[in-house]
Amino acid sequence: LGPDAAPDRVTPMMAQYLGIKADHPDALLFYRMGDFYELFLEDAVVAASVLGIVLTKRGKHQGEDIAMCGVPVERSDDYLHTLIARGHTVAVCEQTEDPAEAKKRGYKSVVRRAVVRIVTPGTITEERLLEPGRANLLAALSRVKGAGDAWIYGVAAVDISTGAFAVAEVPAPNLAAHLARIEPRETVVPDGFADEPELRHVLDEAPGAVTRVARDAADPAAAERRIAEWYGVSTLDGFGAFTRAELAAAATVLHYVARTQLDARPNLQPPARAERGLAVEIDASTRANLEMTRTLGGERQGSLLHAVDLTSTPAGSRLLAERLAGPSTDPDRIGRRLDAVGFAAADRRRRAEVRATLKRAPDMARALSRLSLGRGGPRDLAALRDGLAAAYALSCRLLDEPELPAELAEAAAGAGRIDASLSVLLGAALADDLPLLARDGGFIRAGHDLALDEARELRDDTRRVVAALQARYVEHTEIRTLKIKHNNFLGFFIEVTAQVGETWRVPPHNALFIHRQTMAGAMRFSTTELAELESRISSAADRALAIERTLWDGLVASALAEAEGIRAAGDALAAIDVAFALGEVADTRGWTRPAVDRSLAFRIAGGRHPVVEAALRARGVDFVANGCDLSGTEGPARAKTTGGRIAVVTGPNMAGKSTFLRQNALIAVLAQAGSYVPAAEAHIGVVDRLFSRVGAADDLARGRSTFMVEMVETAAILNQATGRSLVILDEIGRGTATFDGLSIAWAAMEHLHDRNRSRGLFATHFHELTQLGHKLPRLANLTVKVTEWQGDVVFLHEVVPGAADRSYGIQVAKLAGLPATAVERARTILAELEKGARSSPVERLLDDLPLFANLNTPAPPPPEPVRDALRDALAAIDPDELTPKSALEALYALKRAA
Ligand code: ADP
Repeated sequence: LGPDAAPDRVTPMMAQYLGIKADHPDALLFYRMGDFYELFLEDAVVAASVLGIVLTKRGKHQGEDIAMCGVPVERSDDYLHTLIARGHTVAVCEQTEDPAEAKKRGYKSVVRRAVVRIVTPGTITEERLLEPGRANLLAALSRVKGAGDAWIYGVAAVDISTGAFAVAEVPAPNLAAHLARIEPRETVVPDGFADEPELRHVLDEAPGAVTRVARDAADPAAAERRIAEWYGVSTLDGFGAFTRAELAAAATVLHYVARTQLDARPNLQPPARAERGLAVEIDASTRANLEMTRTLGGERQGSLLHAVDLTSTPAGSRLLAERLAGPSTDPDRIGRRLDAVGFAAADRRRRAEVRATLKRAPDMARALSRLSLGRGGPRDLAALRDGLAAAYALSCRLLDEPELPAELAEAAAGAGRIDASLSVLLGAALADDLPLLARDGGFIRAGHDLALDEARELRDDTRRVVAALQARYVEHTEIRTLKIKHNNFLGFFIEVTAQVGETWRVPPHNALFIHRQTMAGAMRFSTTELAELESRISSAADRALAIERTLWDGLVASALAEAEGIRAAGDALAAIDVAFALGEVADTRGWTRPAVDRSLAFRIAGGRHPVVEAALRARGVDFVANGCDLSGTEGPARAKTTGGRIAVVTGPNMAGKSTFLRQNALIAVLAQAGSYVPAAEAHIGVVDRLFSRVGAADDLARGRSTFMVEMVETAAILNQATGRSLVILDEIGRGTATFDGLSIAWAAMEHLHDRNRSRGLFATHFHELTQLGHKLPRLANLTVKVTEWQGDVVFLHEVVPGAADRSYGIQVAKLAGLPATAVERARTILAELEKGARSSPVERLLDDLPLFANLNTPAPPPPEPVRDALRDALAAIDPDELTPKSALEALYALKRAA
């Protein structure tokens, strides 16, 4: 690699580099050279462009310049952060011997190097690299054939930064939604099926980076043994029963953790099985549309999570995010959580006290994980000390309460269960001001360890120790002139006058004082004690450090021995935090407790949109509360009156349709996540799946036709929504020509009403659809009220029964600043059009189309050939059978027909 390298010869260093690189083909290799990590060849090109650093060259390899760039070791964390955030993996290669050693082996020897760690997005633990309030999941997939030859995926997800470990079995069609919910930072996929188009499609859309591993990592036959080995158990029976897919996924994730952490083993909890059906299923588009954890623009601020996250600790914030991402479908569990929130909301002073204690609780789970990986520092131990102190304090505080709800009683008990000895030990051992690294010592409290105190005393306070010894000798010998002095030749010595010295050279004194030197008028002596002191002083610093290191190891071992209790206390604190944060929200914003049960009710009075309301309040504008009733009726499955209600919402642009639709979905999410809701009253029969779609959202970045996206997503809803689902459709069909759009919206609505029978909200600008209310018994029309004042439209944001009489498009255009001449011209054109539209094909169609015809039987001949072809095409579609691909094909057929 040197500049003198011959073009066709590989220098020893290059040979070493290439050898190491060959073991890590998928990682960027950080190759340590002195104070820099250097990157070479292709790695250098990638890193230079991602990091925006200078690309240089160094020598030649196979006749080509070797590209190179480097980052200073001191600031490497920042660069790592950037690379990891962009989905790259970095192998950190260190010098594993002193360069002097290499020199001894010979002039041309290269310093030994080895990869000590592989840093990937899903396996980071450093505080600086992690987001405090966000889980950092590493997922792994496996798959097996299920009934009817359908693929079933195993999904294992670990958070190395906290030790959490969950496995689940997910049918192929639900995989995308599952990944959207858990939001892994990195997903590991075995080579065997990583390239299959269906999975590729899912992974392309999934959050986080995708990493492939060799297929044998996922060998189901070996999976059980591998997991048992990791936990040092002979059988997994104690952990529960797992399916083959789950075991294979769990083994794969452990394999990958071992591979990236090399010798270190994070302290992972045994895998816990996530039961299916316990959480509302919400797919990725719905999450995005409802802006649950981030806005459509990708910001956290402006999302539902941000609006309700008043937690006091990072662990609480992570738990709240998890609850919102997967709201429960179990009314009993929801009820228990609501009890806890209610308790927290009820007493402001108590809440303030509890929250103040929580604020002092550091992130125990992450501190514990760093300690288990050997990457912890004194501040991580302090985090456990302070976290446990907070846990005990809260445990006592809450258990004192006479009417503590079950959820909080359980948490309070969990917070106080861990044996106090660790907390006492850490309290006694750790100093007040702690250094970042254990390496340099200085973290043990004075008075904790006698040997350490002595070593430090010697190290720091030589003069005082010597003076103390001198005083003792003076007292012992009663010679006031005795002095302990130091020079480079003798080191420490005792100096007395020559007369005194003479008497010391004979017994019994010479047994203690050893003569060293005779000076004019003075004599110098030593003692064994002084000689020992001498050597103790010279090695005191080393000794202090060594003692601290031993103590460190002991403290870390004590902490890790209590890992389970620490984690339980941490989980308990997070649960208390969430309850009290939601209590704060409920109390300060006047939210109410929703009634959640197993009915099909959906009745909200005085509902508000939590985010829009807050934004308006900041501008001093009042939000107009609106009710909504979509309660379903139960009865014989095929009866027309059985099923949820669908409301068709019309009204001009900007009236507040989208806000209304979303607020109802968000209230359901909040209620099932166990939160109070922004409404005067809410009664919700648990929703099993939530769908939300917005027509024609621009998606050019992903290179798909917006209309295509809209249809694929509509197909997914019509195929999956159940009688328990909540479906929110905002302007579906907007993305295409009027008749296409209307036909599709119409057909979709019929299907939802007759087949899916879900509760639904359907905003549309196709006023024709309001007529369907006459024919579909569970359809209701709602409109957002506007009024006109001096030719301008005024938005009242009030949702009332009925259909919008007109669209006010021209008024809205005027509001938007369209030039007055254009506005006038538009009015004229509209008047003309309205005159001619008396009997439009649509109106005739509405009269002719048999709305309750079986969707599979062709309808009677329509009035126009074009309609005819369109309807044939539509009739040929059975949405129940529609896969995304066939939806696409059907659409092309529809397009052609039109
Ligand atoms: P639409 O979907 O009908 O075009 P939006 O739902 O996007 O309308 O609402 C437009 C704007 O109107 C919002 O940004 C908000 O500022 C305001 N708005 C909507 N609903 C309300 C409401 N209930 N109370 C007060 N302002 C509202």
